[in-house]
Amino acid sequence: MRYISTRGSAPVLDFAGVLLAGLAEDGGLYLPETWPGFSPGEWRAMRGLPYPELAARVMAPFIGDAVPPDTLRSITTAAYAGFNHPATVPLVQLDRGLFAMELFHGPTLAFKDMAMQVLGRLFDHVLTARDARVAIVGATSGDTGSAAIEACAGRARVDIAILHPHGRTSDVQRRQMTTVTAPNIRNIAIEGTFDDCQDIVKSLFADAPFRREMHLSAVNSINWARITAQIPYYVAAALALGAPDREVAFAVPTGNFGNVLAAWVARRMGLPVARLIVGSNHNDILARFLTANDMSVRPVLPSLSPSMDIQVSSNFERLLFEALGRDGAATAAVMAGFRATGRMAVPDAAWRGLGGVFTGFALDDAATTAEIARLYRETGYLADPHSAIGIAAARAARPDPAIPVIAMATAHPAKFPEAMRAATGQDCPLPPRLADLFDRAEHFDVLPNDPAAVAGALRALVGRNRAG
Ligand SMILES: *Cc1c(COP(=O)(O)O)cnc(C)c1O
Repeated sequence: MRYISTRGSAPVLDFAGVLLAGLAEDGGLYLPETWPGFSPGEWRAMRGLPYPELAARVMAPFIGDAVPPDTLRSITTAAYAGFNHPATVPLVQLDRGLFAMELFHGPTLAFKDMAMQVLGRLFDHVLTARDARVAIVGATSGDTGSAAIEACAGRARVDIAILHPHGRTSDVQRRQMTTVTAPNIRNIAIEGTFDDCQDIVKSLFADAPFRREMHLSAVNSINWARITAQIPYYVAAALALGAPDREVAFAVPTGNFGNVLAAWVARRMGLPVARLIVGSNHNDILARFLTANDMSVRPVLPSLSPSMDIQVSSNFERLLFEALGRDGAATAAVMAGFRATGRMAVPDAAWRGLGGVFTGFALDDAATTAEIARLYRETGYLADPHSAIGIAAARAARPDPAIPVIAMATAHPAKFPEAMRAATGQDCPLPPRLADLFDRAEHFDVLPNDPAAVAGALRALVGRNRAG
């Protein structure tokens, strides 16, 4: 499989190249040159497969010969062996024709584990084949950093440094990063905000000699390999509810648009998906776009669902490229205009085309709390604030009562104890294997808000591990 950039002027790469590159050299995002698909008979043959086996089958056409099929199957098997549920991604019925698919049974209790656990192992495979190493550096305010650390801990060819703003993360989220011990991990608390952390990461990547010396790489959600690993659970849910012989719809709580883009890809591959409902909190740029073609940036306001506190959804560019007929120059021009003006000018015909598939939905914090309370009262189900937005979106915007709708449940409620207690009066205990999280020792270094200090720490980590 060959990959091209959404902006049309970066080198064509294979899957391994895309995995290591992340962003394309022209500033665009990589996408497959052609979309693979499965026939109805091929979908039917996947019904009832164990999840890791299904995942390997669905991912295989995107990976091509970068990873042999047997190796891919061992990678997905190992990736999901650490999940805390025998079904990996259990489907829970909440109402007539309304389901939640739980994507949060991995080691960090959020859906980022679904892709990250596969990604860490893909890195190992591809780097071993090339006899190379990488240093991953990233900034996090929440789920991505802990999922990346869990996925990379102890990997032979990867060093990883994750920056978080000192004293400004939730205790659960920080401890999920800082209590992991392995010689290839470095947690760095920056004396600054999350934006300061991101600026430091950007300046390290902008320093070309340093980037080459360190073999810097990223695992943020623009990495195509992450999208690939998020397609299979849409297939699993649809097949369980009757596809390919029955249509389904999905509702997805959305931030960077990676998760719902994976659902769109599953549809593009021939899965009968009648509608994709995009859920947002009060940071509602996607809902405004889908209802009124108004993609205009406003300040990000904190909410009960912090992983969706985003204004510019980086993966949207992939969908834009498709909506513009895969015209890289046109995509680059729209993105340049967006950056310059804070408003994305999407031609009306392209916007109407997207409206045939996507529905936008936004819920503020008070309504999110009310939805968590209602669900608990009526069904006993405890949905975290992100998942509750997905479930509310599924109820509000389902296309047809005859079409089952599946809401993606993206985080375990125990990650958000205050919000859950406020809505339900219930304490949500951490699952058994994380029950001692608050007794474990934390490891992190506090560094000033200065790229040179972080560069020094990274050089020390990489130097020690490359020396063996
Ligand atoms: C990352 C995240 C999201 C948003 O996913 P995107 O792929 O960025 O749209 C939603 N919920 C939770 C709990 C997350 O961690």
